[in-house]
Formats: sequence, C-alpha cells, structure tokens
Amino acid sequence: PAGLYVVATPIGNLSDISERALEVLSGVDHIACEDTRVTAKLLTAKLIKKPLSPYHEHNGARERPKLLARIEAGERIALVSDAGTPLISDPGYKLVAEAQDAGLYVTSIPGACAAITALTLTGLPTDRFLFMGFPPNKSGARQSWFEAEAKTQASLVFYESTRRLPDCLADAAAVLREREVAVCRELTKKFEEVKRGTLADVAKWYADEGAPKGECVVVIGPPAHVADAGSGSDMDTEHLLEAALK
Ligand code: SAM
Repeated sequence: PAGLYVVATPIGNLSDISERALEVLSGVDHIACEDTRVTAKLLTAKLIKKPLSPYHEHNGARERPKLLARIEAGERIALVSDAGTPLISDPGYKLVAEAQDAGLYVTSIPGACAAITALTLTGLPTDRFLFMGFPPNKSGARQSWFEAEAKTQASLVFYESTRRLPDCLADAAAVLREREVAVCRELTKKFEEVKRGTLADVAKWYADEGAPKGECVVVIGPPAHVADAGSGSDMDTEHLLEAALK
C-alpha cells in the first residue's frame, strides 16, 4: 500500500540486506536517502533502479511536506540511511512522526544496526543497555556526558569516530575508571575486530597505537561489573550475586 517504508540496509557486508528489504526497495515509487551516491551504490549492486532524493538534517524541514504529499497522493516511499537502521543516530524520526500524525501507513523493515551488532559481540551484559548516540567532541563536555551516566545500572553503548577514539577512551577511563569496555570495529567487514579489557588498559592501548582505521562502536560494561568489595551496598551485592549465578 501507499505509505512510508523505513528500510534497514547493511553496515558493511552487502549480503546482510534482507529479502524483504530488497522486495520493498524494488517495489517503492521513490527512495529518500541521506547521500544519494551511497544509496545508488547499494542499489546498483542489487540491480535496483529507483529515483532517489536526499533527506537529511539540513533539508528535512523542506523535504518532509513533499514526501508526505506524495504518500497522500498514493505513492510508496522508502526511507534509508547510508548504512544500518534509519533513525538510529540517523535522520527520520520527524518524518515518521508526521506521517503517523497524518494517519498514513508507516512500516519498518528491520535489519543491521551497528549498536545491536556490537552488543552481541562484546561479552558484556546485554539485559539492560543505554544507547547514547555520539559523544560530544570536546573533552570537558565528554567527561560530563560520561559522568551523567556513571551510576546508570546498564551497559553503555555509543558510536564514536575512530579518529576521536583514543581521546574519548581517555575521558571515559578518567570518569568511569575500572569498568570493562569493548571497542567493536569494522563490524561485518573484512577487518572486523573486538578489543576488550578494562577502560584503563584499552584506553592506554589506543593512546599508544593511535587512532585505528574504519568505524567503531564502544560498549562499556555496567558499574556492578567492577568487583568493588569495599562499597558493600545492597545494589552491588545483588548485582554481583546475579552475575555469579549467570
Ligand atoms: N543508523 C546506523 C546503524 O543502524 O548502525 C548508524 C549511523 S551513525 C551515523 C554511524 C556510526 O555507526 C559510525 O560512526 C560508527 O560509530 C557506527 N558504525 C556504522 N557501521 C559500523 C561498522 N560496520 N562497524 C562499527 N561501527 C559502525
């Protein structure tokens, strides 16, 4: 039917696109995407030819009414991002909201998401996690950003550019100290790598080695993961017991 189709695309390995995603992309009238060159490459690889238009932070306010009008006129419009699941640190939530407010059909075709893929690889607790998007670029703001969640009883998941990774990990280590961390790099790609350890050790490793190449997701384990026998609060004891029983 006419409507908005939110379609997840691969985060590196092109084979990760779903059959339904291919069916939907082949069937829609139009595809709204972040960067038309990036999406054109994917479509060419999958032998799909469709009209594309850019939809991003800077033109969203102007493009939304046009896209909604097209759906109202009976078209099927897909929304994709450069990689992974739209709306997850990517544009789209306002378009979805306005389509829903207008009573239009909205559906989502799930698929790859870097944050979720990282969580499945780190070996850190996944029962509760907080997805934090991207950290601020400056050290002071970044330390406050970590500080604000220092007591949150959950694994912390965030995206960071590999260029800023060494500085970011140094700030995380300064604030969150001995918690465990995993840096998941180049997921689903040829040089996929997961580097695990304490924040202090992993921060030092990247400080020595310098910024790695590619893209990464950082997962920091929950505070209860620290074997802090001295603190003795009920919360810690409960979590340690629970962890021991797993
Ligand atoms: N919407 C996307 C998703 O569902 O994963 C995320 C978009 S966000 C703008 C891009 C960030 O995701 C990158 O800077 C990196 O932190 C992370 N990312 C994307 N692909 C990745 C990959 N193959 N390996 C590791 N991290 C990746």
